[in-house]
This record gives sequence, structure tokens and C-alpha cells, in this order.
Amino acid sequence: AHCFVLSCAFMSALPPTLASPPSSIVDEIRALADTTAGRICTDADATALASTDFGGNVSVVGARPAAVFYPSCPADIAALLRASSASASPFPVSARGCGHSTRGQATAPGGVVVDMASLGRVADSSGRLAVSVDGRYIDAGGEQLWVDVLHATLVHGLTPRSWTDYLHLTVGGTLSNAGISGQAFRHGPQISNVHELDVVTGTGEMVTCSKEKHADLFDAALGGLGQFGIITRARIPLTLAPARVRWVRLLYANAAALTGDQERLISEHGALAGLMDYVEGSVLTDYQSLFASRPSLSSFFPDANDARVAALANEAGGVLYCLEGAAYYGGAGDTSAAHVDKALEVMLRELRYARGYTFVQDVSYVEFLDRVHGAELKLRAAGIWDVPHPWLILFLPRSRILDFAAGVFHGVLRHDRAMHGTVLVYPMNRGKWDGGMSAVFPGEEEVFYTVGILRSAVADGDLRHMEEQNSEITRFCENAGIPCTQYLPYYATQAEWAARHFGPGRWDRFVQRKRKYDPKAILSRGQRIFSYPS
Ligand code: FAD
Repeated sequence: AHCFVLSCAFMSALPPTLASPPSSIVDEIRALADTTAGRICTDADATALASTDFGGNVSVVGARPAAVFYPSCPADIAALLRASSASASPFPVSARGCGHSTRGQATAPGGVVVDMASLGRVADSSGRLAVSVDGRYIDAGGEQLWVDVLHATLVHGLTPRSWTDYLHLTVGGTLSNAGISGQAFRHGPQISNVHELDVVTGTGEMVTCSKEKHADLFDAALGGLGQFGIITRARIPLTLAPARVRWVRLLYANAAALTGDQERLISEHGALAGLMDYVEGSVLTDYQSLFASRPSLSSFFPDANDARVAALANEAGGVLYCLEGAAYYGGAGDTSAAHVDKALEVMLRELRYARGYTFVQDVSYVEFLDRVHGAELKLRAAGIWDVPHPWLILFLPRSRILDFAAGVFHGVLRHDRAMHGTVLVYPMNRGKWDGGMSAVFPGEEEVFYTVGILRSAVADGDLRHMEEQNSEITRFCENAGIPCTQYLPYYATQAEWAARHFGPGRWDRFVQRKRKYDPKAILSRGQRIFSYPS
């Protein structure tokens, strides 16, 4: 009774009645459904689901949408946006990938959430993952999961180069942020690895854009937090796929040694340049609970090592660091196991980790890339996946990472109660990022770090405690003059977005692009950047 069918064929020309819309959003949506393609649901189950996300923090997620829209093709999305745009009181519309945001970014309070997965569920959705072997690219629907992109390309011995740690995220969702992982130091974030996009703008226009064609929209949409259009297709370049991975973890007793080594590994010069295909790192402020809560980690450090690791942790004053590296070999690529082993030998000789604390695994390329999914399944089984996730992810310049470590890893987070999560720290090369795109990153130094404090609020009181600590970390950075940029940012007011996230030049450009592509601020209101009327 609460679902309306819209059929794609009729969507290109919306009836003139929509130009003088009924007073309430629900009536407007009904009018759209009565006349035209797709399916709209206003029932409580659908709207409740569309107002949740991975963050699970009800206080920031906000109100429910009035409806959820299930498009059958990109033209359905264009029609919905044109209807809102033509309305006297335009209703908010947000694309929802998997809802893996943590602060309600994919919600559309009082408006319409577009269930992107629906694009891939239509009878003939095979074209939504189309590999061109000769062109060395894949055309992937914005709703597609990166794990499916991986499998579709591997069939042809090919693979994208830049990833996220977790692959059950959508192409459109990560490209609206940046998409980072341990390959970004060499290939840049995922947004630096796109040839072309199909975007439906806030005015309902369907545009194909690239660096050559409609470059301004292309740059705006990449890292654009869903503000300029809904990405319905991305053309992603591919390279020859390796078959296997030597996956290394090394323990460190101090931050200076870890970061020094990471920087040598990501440098394009020096003895260690090019040895690793992936470089990340983590901080173990409470290594015991980490072992308990991160099955993927505990399997890396077999139980037999517990006592040794505990001894090192004591020696290090309770905070351990871990460098994580990976070297690919085999498959369609031309790197042999012997070559990789030689590289590892050099690396293990040169790096300054705590001697004897070397842990190496050999896994398939798929196992390596899809590693977080294994942890997800275990956390789900333990009932601690669907809990609040008050994540804080920061970018900061290289020159301040040790100050940050002293104040946060050895300060705010030290002697914390059970950690339930992980703290990532790894560097990236600024030169691999494109300042013309919407994503914000530190621009001053050649190298910047990402620090991801990725925690799960498992016990009563954890959420509040972790949110307070996040605020304490932000205050610490302000007081210490450490310039931090949030990744997957969240600010409650436009003034904060302007001043604290973008800064004057970038903010002006962001606003100009918004006026051009979504003048009625219809898109992704859950980000809390723009409202209408402003
Ligand atoms: P959603 O959360 O559904 O949407 C995110 C935003 O993008 C919303 O504003 C939404 O309206 C907009 N949006 C969604 N689809 C589109 C589209 N097609 N076009 C335009 N706008 C759109 N990120 C990393 O970079 N690296 C990581 O290693 C990483 N690991 C993660 C691990 C886990 C377990 C989780 C839960 C998240 C991780 N993320 C990581 C964060 C992830 O990139 C973001 O959550 C991102 O938003 C993608 O999630 P999603 O596809 O569910 O998008």
C-alpha cells in the first residue's frame, strides 16, 4: 500500500503538473509515482532502514526520509531530481550506497533516499560491471561494491590499483570521499584513478564527464561528498593482476622508528623505494584487547608470541607500533616470488623494527584485499558489528606526526579501557592527490599522514566516552597547533565546514560549484553542509 511503481520508459518527460507541486513531500512523491518509472516506498521499515548507518549514532543521524526510491536505471534518478528541482519547495535527495557512513551522511531527513543497490538488481544488470580488456578499464555502476569490481576484473587477469581496506563499499560512495588504503602512497586515492564518470546533477541533468569533458563537474564530484551529483558510472583504469601477496607485519617500540621507516618505503628514492606495493601501520595502545577483538590481527601474531609481545609492550611503555607492508607477485604481473623475497630481505635488513618481531604470511591477492571481510564475519558472529562506531579519521602533515603520537597515542588514548577497534597510521604522498578535486587534504608538505581511530562502542557508556575522547583529541591538536583535516568529515554547521574543513579558497570554489550543479541544495543534505533556502 505504501509502494509506488515508476516505469523507466516514461521518465524522460515529467508531467507539467510537477511544476506546481502539492504541498507536502509525500504528495509530491505520490504524484511522481502516479505518472511515471522505479519504485518508491514510504513504509516505516524502508524509511527506518534508510535513516540508519554504520556509525549507529542516533543523535547525529537525524530524521527519517519521507520515502525510499528504488531506481531501475540512471534516468529514474534524473527524473526524481528534476521533480524535486521543479518543486516550489525542493525536497532533499541522498544517494545511499551501503550506508557505511558514520554520521548520517547518506540520509535525507524528510526527503528521499535513493537506494543505489536497486540499480544493480534489475533483470539485466550485467552491463553495470563491464570490463574492456583492450582499453584496460572497467565501467562500474556507482552502486557496485568494490569486491564485485575486483572479481569482475580478475576474470580477465586485470585489477584496479587503488583500494580501500574494506571492499564492501560502493564505487560511488568511496569516490564521493577519496578512497584510501595502503596503495595510495604510490597510486593516489581512488579518486586519482578514474577516467570518466556519469553523473546526474542536482538539476536532473545526466552528464558524462572526465578531465577532458566537463572537467569542472568531474573534479567537483570526486571527493564531493555527494554534493554535486549522483555518480551512476565510473570508468576505472586497470593493470595486470598479481596472484599472491607476501604480507608482512613488523613491531616497533616507538613512533619515530615506525614513521621513519614508513616514509622510506613510500619514497620514490632510496634503497627501499618500490619494494612494497602497500604500506600501512597501526598503533597498539591496548594490545591485549586488540588481540581479542580483531581476529585478523590475532591470526597474524600466533598465541605463542603473546608473552614476547607483552614483554616488548612493557619495554615500550605500553604503546606498540606495527608496520604493515605487502608485496605482490605472480599472476599476470611479471614479479616472481624470488624477486619479492629478495625485496623482503633488503627491507628486513634496512628497517628499524624490534628485531625478532617479524611476522610474514603468504596469501592470495583476493584474500589480502578482502581481508577486513573475514574480520567482519567474525565480529558479526560475536554480535559486535552492528554497534555504534564513533570513528575519527584525520589527515595531518608529516612534520607533526610525532607531536600527535606523543599527545594522543601516549596521552589521550593511553591507559584507555578496552580499545575495541584499531588505530591506523600511515603516510601518503601529496603529489598523488589532485588539488582541483573536491577532496580536502593537507597541502603544505610532500608527505601527510592519515590517522584512523576506528573504534566500536561495544559496552554501555563506550559511545559517550569515545566521543569525549575524540573531542579531546581535536582540542589537543588545536592547542598544539597541529593542523588536522578530517577524512569522512563531519561538522554540524556550515560555518564550521567553511572555516575548519575547507578554508577560504576551497570553500569559495565548493560553493560556486554547488550553485552551478545543485543550486537548490537538494543533494546529500545529511552531510549538513548546505540547506535550502540557505
Ligand atoms: P554511503 O555511506 O552510503 O554514502 C556516503 C556519502 O556519499 C553520502 O553522502 C551519500 O549520499 C554519498 N553517495 C553515496 N553513493 C553515491 C553516489 N553514487 N554518487 C554520489 N554520492 C553518493 N574508506 C576509505 O577511504 N578507506 C577505507 O579503508 C575504508 N574502510 C572502511 C571500512 C569499514 C568497515 C567501513 C564501514 C567504512 C570504511 N571506509 C573506508 C569508509 C567508506 O569509504 C565510506 O563509508 C564511504 O561513504 C562509502 O560507503 P558507502 O558506499 O556505504 O556510502
